[in-house]
Amino acid sequence: MSEPVPMSEARRYQQLRAHLSYLKLNDDADALPRVLDQARQDRMSLTTAMERLLEIEVEATGARKLSSRLRFACLPEPWTLADFDFAAQPGVDEKLIRDLATLRFLDTASNALFVGPPGVGKTMLAVALARAAVDAGHRVYFTTAADLAAKCHKAALEGRWASIMRFFAGPRLLAIDELGYLPLPGDGASALFQVINQRYLKSSTILTTNVGIADWAGAFGDATVAAAMLDRLLHRAAVVGIDGPSYRLWNHQAAAETIRKGVNARVS
Ligand code: ADP
Ligand code: MG
Repeated sequence: MSEPVPMSEARRYQQLRAHLSYLKLNDDADALPRVLDQARQDRMSLTTAMERLLEIEVEATGARKLSSRLRFACLPEPWTLADFDFAAQPGVDEKLIRDLATLRFLDTASNALFVGPPGVGKTMLAVALARAAVDAGHRVYFTTAADLAAKCHKAALEGRWASIMRFFAGPRLLAIDELGYLPLPGDGASALFQVINQRYLKSSTILTTNVGIADWAGAFGDATVAAAMLDRLLHRAAVVGIDGPSYRLWNHQAAAETIRKGVNARVS
């Protein structure tokens, strides 16, 4: 229990509480009596007591921001990298995935592509990396290719094209799940290309697909769009082929060049 305090001290306490409420430091306003009692009891220095008090608000603000980033990100599952069983999927290079999980790839606006048949953990890895980015304080948005195409199509009909493009340009990390063989709704391939193109060299994109890179031209219907999209995506990218013999890391212009030539040779 607190000792009885002189009137002026009580008024000061009320004022301090009012200041905290006025500044919307509500967690601090609530914690104030507790922190003051503790401070008296433990004979804390003024600095320690103030640090204790502000730490409470900082932690509460951090938690609120995290939950708001998480809501915005629209992650379909609560998966983290800890849920991924690397032993069950020896085709996946754990070192590469853990390197991606450091999020250094965000600093260079590099991309990550997960390519493989259904059920091998592509979505799980995309979600886990997206979650790591949310936890690290980044703005992240998770969507499927079909949903992205549908959103863009609707926006185009409603005259909101520029605003939907700004929306998809915004996140530091955009994860696009399930790019498949089925044609995207509306003018989906072109919308997807524009999204990829405007993010190119600016911010990172994760893409999961069951379409092998060599088959992209066919899957998109439009070989030129497919080649242009691969060009942007692979320029700086880690490509994880999950069913394949191993991943390949395209960090170098030369490697990307080879793919571009391959694609261009196929489409011409
Ligand atoms: P994909 O996107 O390649 O079709 P998912 O990521 O959706 O595959 O994985 C399918 C299911 O299998 C999910 O429930 C996922 O949690 C699980 N799963 C796949 N690979 C692994 C793994 N290596 N470790 C743990 N769970 C896995
Ligand atoms: Mg999937």
